[in-house]
Amino acid sequence: MDQPIVILPDMFIQRMSDLLGPEAREFFDALHRPRMRGLRVNTLRTAPDTLVRRAPFALSPIPWAPEGFLYRHPDRPGLHPWYDAGVYYIQEPAAMAAAVLLDPQPGELVLDLAAAPGGKSTHIAARMENRGLLVANEPNPKRCRVLVQNLERLGVANALVTQEQPESLLRWAGTFDRVLLDAPCTGESMFRKDPAVAAAWNPRRILRNAERQHRMLATAAELVRPGGRLLYATCTFAPEENEQVIARFLGERQDFRLVPAELPGGAPGRPEWADGREELALCRRLWPHRVPADGHFYALLERAEDSVLAGRGRWTAAGRRPWKSTRLPARAAASILLQLPGASLPAHWELRGDTWIALPESLPRLGSLEGLRIAAKGVAWGIIRGTGFLPAHSLAMALPPGASPPSVVWPSDAPEVAAWLNGRSLPAPPNVPAGWVWVGVDGFPLGWGKISGGTLKNHYPKGLRRDLGSPASPEGTHGNDPEE
Ligand code: SAM
Repeated sequence: MDQPIVILPDMFIQRMSDLLGPEAREFFDALHRPRMRGLRVNTLRTAPDTLVRRAPFALSPIPWAPEGFLYRHPDRPGLHPWYDAGVYYIQEPAAMAAAVLLDPQPGELVLDLAAAPGGKSTHIAARMENRGLLVANEPNPKRCRVLVQNLERLGVANALVTQEQPESLLRWAGTFDRVLLDAPCTGESMFRKDPAVAAAWNPRRILRNAERQHRMLATAAELVRPGGRLLYATCTFAPEENEQVIARFLGERQDFRLVPAELPGGAPGRPEWADGREELALCRRLWPHRVPADGHFYALLERAEDSVLAGRGRWTAAGRRPWKSTRLPARAAASILLQLPGASLPAHWELRGDTWIALPESLPRLGSLEGLRIAAKGVAWGIIRGTGFLPAHSLAMALPPGASPPSVVWPSDAPEVAAWLNGRSLPAPPNVPAGWVWVGVDGFPLGWGKISGGTLKNHYPKGLRRDLGSPASPEGTHGNDPEE
């Protein structure tokens, strides 16, 4: 958890000094202090106060996110098996404000347009209680794979992951109750975390990003339903990428208005850094010298109820190809229930190859997905062979309500946990029947094992295995967690 030495670009120092005036000193001092570390409790797994009571590390609350906590050196929650069980997500504290401001509700249609590695998407899905539909989009294939892994680790069951440029999603114009655009930016708030971001910084990048942000915001706006909300976010301080993008957008779209983005400790947006329109003060800035965080900018926008949809008939529901539904055959359902007694079975399914995938309840509302690059959808349940059922890892991470498979659960300090995450098979515990068993730590999921001939065979996916003692990355996050 060493703090890299931050070398700030001279031009950045000049720009921020000009913008902040006397406040600049506190700002630069903060950039040279150690970063605050945050974790966000995955409420699909447990309640925040329960985690605080049970956690072997000290946690202090983050004022703007009830699920968010600060932890301190030398604690390393990324090394604890609860990380692998998706009990929390290591996340920059300021990033936790996104889902709070967007306020997604269970049952809604929500889009995260630039979603990898999934910090904000997993938070949104948890707030939606896995109901309705979250479309998480990420055009970069490598980052999209990490997004899929993180959604799986945290037990998200209601997501469709697309790997598209934003314009390709315009078939869903006017559809989403809430849209998040966490735009690619110059990342000035990340200089402390990653010196490479500071080294790559230059003012030309700010302008290039601002142009791209403007285009992406225009697309994001089309995707919001009339009366719906759009949250624009960046992790940079540059006004060109923040207030100025919003001012230009408001100049072009009279059918959107800013609504107050209230956050404890948040500072108002700065109208004087753009075209002076007063409502820009409704934007929120989390500054690193004012709150325990690296920093973020947020603008919460609402589309008017009487806003007219562009491209009606071409893009909107009427023009969409209908959804084709597949039902789970009775024989397949019987095989699944044999292994997963008590499980409530979802209504919509897809058979990909020989794997049955349970689809989010609201997916049919989007119509056919033909022509889109789909990286993942819903939860893969597993393969039916004859009368047998081979459960998929994602099913262990997102067990359906009521399911009570035979299980083996260890406390997190049991030596079996480290052995299991390392991929080792173990002697079968007494009194557990032969066959597939759900394996857990402190009641949280680690995957599937299979008992046969006195051995508990390890089916933890090879790509996730790790040595709890020697992490591959600074927080032991084996490369699939973004923030540390
Ligand atoms: N929301 C993410 C989270 O909380 O984990 C972080 C998103 S990051 C700030 C911006 C993402 O936008 C990156 O993953 C980047 O690959 C993606 N991106 C880059 N260009 C894009 C584009 N033209 N359209 C959509 N996303 C893009």
